[in-house]
Amino acid sequence: MSSLWIITLSLIYLLVLFGIANWAERRAVAHRSIVNNPYVYALSLAVYCTAWTFYGSVGRAAESGPDFLSVYIGPTFLIPLWWVIFRKIIRICKVQRITSIADFISARYGKNRALGGIVTLVCLLGIVPYISIQLKAITISFSILSGHQPLATQSFWSDQSFYIALALIIFTILFGTRKLEANERHEGLVAAIAFESLIKLFTFIAVGLFVTFGLFNGFTDIFSRAAEVPDLQKLFVLPQEQTGSWFWHCLLAAIAILFLPRQFQLTVVENTNENHLRKAQWLFPLYLLIINIFVLPIALSGKLIFGNDTIPSDTYLLALPLHFKQQGLAFLTYLGGFSAATSMIIVECTALTVMFTNNLLMPVLVGRPSWQKGLGSSGGSFVLNARRLFIGVIILLAYLYYKNVSDKYSLVSVGMVSFAAVAQFAPAALGGIFWKKANLVGAMGGILAGSTVWLYTLIIPSMVSNGFISTDFLTYGPAHISWLRPEALFGLESMDNLSHGVFWSLFFNLIFYVCGSLHFGQSALEHNQAALFVDIFKYDTSYERSVAWRGKALITDIVTLMSKFFGKTRAERALTLYARRNKLSLQTKYADPMLVNYAEKMLSGAIGAASARIVVASVAKEERITVDEVIDILKTSQELKTVNEELTRKSRELEALTHQLKQANDKLRVSEQQKDDFLSTVTHEIRTPLTSIRALSEIIHDNPDMELSQQQHFLTTIIKESDRLTRLVNQVLDLERYETGRYQLSKETFSIQTLISESINSIEQLAKEKEIIIKTSYQGSLGNIYSDYDRLMQVLINLLSNAIKFCPSQNGLIEVLAKVENGILLISVKDNGPGISPELQALIFDKFYQAESKHNRKAKGSGLGLAISKKIIELCKGDIQVQSTLGEGAVFTFQIPTMMS
Ligand code: ADP
Repeated sequence: MSSLWIITLSLIYLLVLFGIANWAERRAVAHRSIVNNPYVYALSLAVYCTAWTFYGSVGRAAESGPDFLSVYIGPTFLIPLWWVIFRKIIRICKVQRITSIADFISARYGKNRALGGIVTLVCLLGIVPYISIQLKAITISFSILSGHQPLATQSFWSDQSFYIALALIIFTILFGTRKLEANERHEGLVAAIAFESLIKLFTFIAVGLFVTFGLFNGFTDIFSRAAEVPDLQKLFVLPQEQTGSWFWHCLLAAIAILFLPRQFQLTVVENTNENHLRKAQWLFPLYLLIINIFVLPIALSGKLIFGNDTIPSDTYLLALPLHFKQQGLAFLTYLGGFSAATSMIIVECTALTVMFTNNLLMPVLVGRPSWQKGLGSSGGSFVLNARRLFIGVIILLAYLYYKNVSDKYSLVSVGMVSFAAVAQFAPAALGGIFWKKANLVGAMGGILAGSTVWLYTLIIPSMVSNGFISTDFLTYGPAHISWLRPEALFGLESMDNLSHGVFWSLFFNLIFYVCGSLHFGQSALEHNQAALFVDIFKYDTSYERSVAWRGKALITDIVTLMSKFFGKTRAERALTLYARRNKLSLQTKYADPMLVNYAEKMLSGAIGAASARIVVASVAKEERITVDEVIDILKTSQELKTVNEELTRKSRELEALTHQLKQANDKLRVSEQQKDDFLSTVTHEIRTPLTSIRALSEIIHDNPDMELSQQQHFLTTIIKESDRLTRLVNQVLDLERYETGRYQLSKETFSIQTLISESINSIEQLAKEKEIIIKTSYQGSLGNIYSDYDRLMQVLINLLSNAIKFCPSQNGLIEVLAKVENGILLISVKDNGPGISPELQALIFDKFYQAESKHNRKAKGSGLGLAISKKIIELCKGDIQVQSTLGEGAVFTFQIPTMMS
């Protein structure tokens, strides 16, 4: 096929693409977008399949069998997670108007300029070689189709690939830099890419069908024939020793597909509806599956047909139809490869230039106020022109790289090295959306460390094989330090070169990222952004109010600033719309903070987050929340917390106090009641003897001639009753003194034995009168006690006289037992009287209680004796109890310490 024909048809194809892009854009303006469609979205994602897929897969399959599949299986495995990862990233990018992976990472870590710059540089370093292999693919396919072998020593003006590069520059500029968009979405571009994906698929299937069913009798035919060739048998299975590297290759592809600039552009930036992601999640793997079905059959057919010819396996796809004189099919194939290469170049360059202007160029320029002034109202066209220029630079760089380096490598290996560069963003980007603590130092350290190791382990070896660096460097390591060998770092030799580089670069990347994040803190802005990224679904749009600029900006300044980049009419329209939607007034002198924030967001869409922040800061005096202020806020809330805790504690104390108060009150009420009872009992007790005294006195008074003996008898009774009264009053007074604590024990040391014998002595007469025997028994020597002698004697006498009172008149027996044990004196008084029923035992120690029925009371006593005894024993820090069975006598026992403090 003649070169002219191929060039003409290629140009026509590009024009068709351009027509599609224009058509799509016109529909978008008319609000009948064709890009807002899950199928178009999924197809556009197939930009992933570049010329490397198209030609390279067959080449790789012909060399090492199913190994080529890792690049497709990796992403397919990870795709279920896309809903979690990409939905979040898409939402964040929409809310924050983020338009590239560099912007994304820089925005997350405090809109840091340096970080955005570094990510952009790494992308450039990693992607330019990748673009160069697309150029290479186009050039090779062109020369195969035209039959002109390119000469190695050609100067660039007679080199076809140079003209191809120029043509691509023009088309990429036409596609990617039509106007400055605030959201950097390009509907025309997406439509064209989706169309190219269809072309790739159809042409690949066409060749596949031709080879499989035209040249052979279907899949089984090819496979069974190949199985007969010993050399080809190894292509059917994955060699055992390669399974390890297979894992690393899958992982690498799974990660890289998330952050490749072109994938980020189409998956995130160009996304019109988050739900499209759901369809893409199965449509995209399906696309990968279909485009790979014929890879192995074509590779095997190539091997079977060309045998050990010199035809490189990378070109089987073209060589097979040409060999069988199928010019049309060969051209179709070329078109498929051309589609694959151009779509990649166009999107990748667009994404890279946006990164370049937003993260490298603009942050430097907008930082100079003089530049901003000189810009006048042409900010928008300046940015566009810079991008156009840069597209040219990138493609020319790729061309140079192709001429000098990549020409010597297979398509696949260069692609994988690019993947490894992009994989360095994974920790910072994924960590950024799930881990709030991740910070700038960690991200910067991780990316720098990872890319350095990437350069060292993957790029240096390629420079060695190009002769730029001596081979000694690889074999012995720098300065003969063998553990620094780029392909066997730290002595790791068991892995293939790529896996080795991926492993170490990600290893160091992660270490730096995690340690840096754990060890250092975050600035206030970074903290804010971290919260916004991680909790995006919580904040979403409401965040505008919360993180608004807290400063002042003149409305006129904002309008002027926006006009510089978007033109006066667009700027004013956007601001008016926003103001109306949010019920803000544009007639005031100063802009509402929300409006300033909105302006910043619009601008970050056009010139990147970091640059937008700078230009807006130049007109808005921001009262930045300083770290101190944040700490203040935190402190205040900490103080509030403390106050709160204090309050809780106090109210708890109050509660306890109220409870105590209530208990005291209850007690008071009970003792009030007791006092009433006591008073009524006392008055009752006093009235009885008084009545009798009064009655007897009256009789004596009224009967002067009463017999003397009779008179005598009455008077004796009066004296007895008066004694009783006195005793009663004394007892009541005693009891009162004990109870109120007004009585002070008068303590002295005395012999216990004396105490007991003296007590018995004083009641001996009474006992004798009733013929009662009193027995005493002491266990061991009792020794002395330090206590109140008189009061203890009172208790003992009381117990003894009670016993005498209740003992029967004949056979009465009282046993007094005493012992000292562990410093405790125990004395018990036992009688053989009627005993006390169990229910009464608890009551007899109460005041005025007399267990006998009331009619006996008068004769027996006051009912205060035991109450007083109990009080005295308690004052002596002791205890008193009774044990008794009805009819078998009673035992009263008390214990007191011998040494009272
Ligand atoms: P009183 O001065 O009336 O004896 P006490 O307080 O000494 O008052 O005793 C209260 C009541 O306990 C007595 O009325 C009696 O019913 C009962 N009581 C006391 N000692 C004995 C005892 N040894 N045997 C049986 N009942 C007793």
